[in-house]
Amino acid sequence: MITEHLLQIKSKLPSDVQLVAVSKTKPNKDILEAYNAGQRIFGENHVQELTQKYEDLPKDIEWHMIGHLQRNKVKYIVPFVSLIHGVHSFKLLKEINKQAKAINRTIDILIQFHIAEEDTKFGFSLDEAKEMLDAEQFPTYNNVRVRGVMGMATFTDNQEQIHQEFRTLHMYFQELKGHYFNRNNDFSIISMGMSGDYKIAIVEGGNMVRVGSAIFGERNYAE
Ligand SMILES: *Cc1c(COP(=O)(O)O)cnc(C)c1O
Repeated sequence: MITEHLLQIKSKLPSDVQLVAVSKTKPNKDILEAYNAGQRIFGENHVQELTQKYEDLPKDIEWHMIGHLQRNKVKYIVPFVSLIHGVHSFKLLKEINKQAKAINRTIDILIQFHIAEEDTKFGFSLDEAKEMLDAEQFPTYNNVRVRGVMGMATFTDNQEQIHQEFRTLHMYFQELKGHYFNRNNDFSIISMGMSGDYKIAIVEGGNMVRVGSAIFGERNYAE
């Protein structure tokens, strides 16, 4: 079933949209099934689970940290992580830079924006992000590479609201691209959309979708 679901979703994605298979709570055998069907990018939201899976599974997997990351856990994932989606504060960015520098790596990150109405979701406002990017010391953080933006829409049946929220994130991307990353082709990723709303995200210009349950089935326990 996993292979079938994965291939079906992939066959309908535009060629410029990257699929992150969200494997949180799922066992290694499920991940290997998707891997054997050609999937290489997987997303996890807990540091300990991510680290364990990295150790156990094929080394050509690109692991994305998609969840809320605490500063004191950054050091555990920095050695191997490919992309950190949820950079929600300047302090977190500084810590990623510090740990990356210590092992001579450069870590790709996305700036997380708060676009949903729920305040349980983390992220910058546009002004806060600009404040960080304008900070005098920002250019000294050479061990992080800002690749784009990430956001989560409100959990709602209101499709128009989801469209609006993703449209807002796309606008933030354009704004930052124009002001700060004009001649920087690395700044290119708009990570938005999950199983329930990735089709809307693509319509609104997303080019990286994070899909879990539509590939692996429902999760048994809350994340
Ligand atoms: C769990 C999770 C997803 C995937 O959710 P599904 O609804 O299972 O597709 C995507 N993004 C983030 C940040 C998540 O925590």
